[in-house]
Amino acid sequence: MSPPRRSEVAPPEQPAFGRIGLLPGIGPAREARLARLGLATIRDLLFLIPRRLEAFPGEAPIAQARRALGRELTIAGAVRSRTFYRSGRRRSVLRLAVEDRSGAMDVVFFNQPWLRERFAKGDAIRVHGRVVDSKGPALAATRLESDARALPEAGSLVATYPSTEGISQAFLGELCRAAARRFGDRLVEPLPEEELSRLELPPLPRAVRDLHEPADLARFEAASRRVSLEPVLRLQARLWERRKERAQGHAMAIPIAGALHRDLVARLPFTPTQAQLAAMADLRADLGRSVPMRRLLQGDVGSGKTAVGLYACMAAAAAGGQAAFMAPTELLAEQHAYGQRELLDRASLRAALLTGSQASKERKAVLAAAAQGQVDIVFGTHALFSQDVRFARLALAVIDEQQRFGVAQRQRLLDKGRDVHALLMTATPIPRSLALTVYGDLDLTLLGEKPPGRGPVHTQWLRGPETRRALEVIEARLAEGEQAYWVVPRIEEGEPGLAGAIAAFERLRSRSVARFGIELVHGRMPAAERAERLERFRRGEARLLVSTTVIEVGVDVPRATVLAVQSAERLGLAQLHQLRGRIGRSARESWCFLLGRATAAERFRVLEATNDGFEIAERDLALRGMGDLVGLRQAGESTEGLGDPRRDLDLVLFARDLVARAPALRAHYR
Ligand code: ADP
Ligand code: MG
Repeated sequence: MSPPRRSEVAPPEQPAFGRIGLLPGIGPAREARLARLGLATIRDLLFLIPRRLEAFPGEAPIAQARRALGRELTIAGAVRSRTFYRSGRRRSVLRLAVEDRSGAMDVVFFNQPWLRERFAKGDAIRVHGRVVDSKGPALAATRLESDARALPEAGSLVATYPSTEGISQAFLGELCRAAARRFGDRLVEPLPEEELSRLELPPLPRAVRDLHEPADLARFEAASRRVSLEPVLRLQARLWERRKERAQGHAMAIPIAGALHRDLVARLPFTPTQAQLAAMADLRADLGRSVPMRRLLQGDVGSGKTAVGLYACMAAAAAGGQAAFMAPTELLAEQHAYGQRELLDRASLRAALLTGSQASKERKAVLAAAAQGQVDIVFGTHALFSQDVRFARLALAVIDEQQRFGVAQRQRLLDKGRDVHALLMTATPIPRSLALTVYGDLDLTLLGEKPPGRGPVHTQWLRGPETRRALEVIEARLAEGEQAYWVVPRIEEGEPGLAGAIAAFERLRSRSVARFGIELVHGRMPAAERAERLERFRRGEARLLVSTTVIEVGVDVPRATVLAVQSAERLGLAQLHQLRGRIGRSARESWCFLLGRATAAERFRVLEATNDGFEIAERDLALRGMGDLVGLRQAGESTEGLGDPRRDLDLVLFARDLVARAPALRAHYR
């Protein structure tokens, strides 16, 4: 027998080293403060990636230091006098007057009572700190040179750390360096050497030392890449497990033979785009198998995702299964249900709508029909996945606008439908590396093309007296038979100057535009009334719709060609782009007016410059950071393992590939 390959031998577990409280000088109070920085164990300290590197400042003459308020520097001189006092149980100040040839200044040590007996008059000291105002300019000492430890040389690189109340960044730095010196070498490097050298990464023990006491910038960067690879590997190992679990599920096989495919396509009210056809081909391959599909369909607003979802639902019904089509808002669920009614009727498919605010009698009837298999497609909100909903033969779930569901919520839904095919659709395109992390357990299909014959969409930021232009354009367009949206983020008047949708509606109703018919919808009106009002707009009886952001996703009224967003500074890039997706759905050119304050100028300029959802997502990422983009941080969910996708794409790809190849590493990182 040949010896096992190296990657098949499980590396020993990483030592835990225990709580930070086991380190000398760390009592319960400090331990609690460190916990606020997310630091609980010694391993957390070792793997804490410093914010940046700074050159250690050189020595300054005291006279010069006195004028450098706020700066970090080093002084050297002789101790002239010393005072010590306590100002509470744990608070103390040791104050030394230090003098060099240029002058004198105080050096203060806060809360380090053990230094009290350390200094005698005439002692020479070198000390580093920040110049503060404490009874005149004084140096708040952070590092003291001792026989045992010299200060870093001027210009040498020092890592800087986060801080919190009661934990200075200098203290944390010292703690990390001490931990790295004492424990770093005991770390296990689970990755084979040849893998590390492919990425030019140091092994963990060296990485941890280079991270906290770097010799140069290149080594610091290599070290921080190695350390940030750890959570990336952990996440990818988890995702691998999830994919494997999925492969063991059993969903109804939905074969789509050529004849059925042609039949389904012919039922659509238009000729599919090449991109839609390619997406359907992906679905045919997935649905034909009993391994549950987990596919994410990404397509910019207006790219025609609904038709693709509907194609899958019709196929499921043809195979004798049921489909659930889920939308994040009642408004959208209603639109899908009513919008597809005719098409589904013609195909002799039975469809129903299930939302949270339905009358209980109606709801009971839908529930019974679903449970007895008397309905083929149920449209609805997440109410579709509540406890009391049973399907006789649920084969497929389509989740529209899935970015509106949190990552955890999405996972719960998928877990519930373990043996169901799932098609997730999103209009928030995400960069590839992010897709491989947040959506790493899904297969991706891109709808990269919009249906033909769409007019251009112009976007303009308007301020002050310019805002009149928005209403002028709306009035002119309405006169030509087109329609418009007037969006206000809040329902009611907020702080002064922040209009609400109700007030905007009242104001516009008294203007001449109102002669074309005007309606108001917002999230606080009864669902039935809202649906009715929206329907009036859809039918063109009201040509101007005033609304909150409830129309943000999905609403599809092709005759609408103007969108004005008031208080637009309150909305994020992705949200504004989504709103803009309500127009530009016909051959006419469309106008999007952003009425908002200069605080959001950067976002407005991005929207003026591009209509490309991918580019906007990239900019959003740069402006807001990762976790926010996918709504992880708002949802209070972990962003561990995500890294910075623009920087770490190669690490993510590497980790994904590695855990797929090396079972031993999967076990280690699980
Ligand atoms: P998305 O959900 O991707 O934002 P929709 O599915 O709402 O987009 O489609 C947007 C509009 O384009 C709808 O009015 C739809 O009927 C229309 N549409 C979709 N596909 C096509 C196509 N292949 N040809 C013409 N119009 C299409
Ligand atoms: Mg849609």
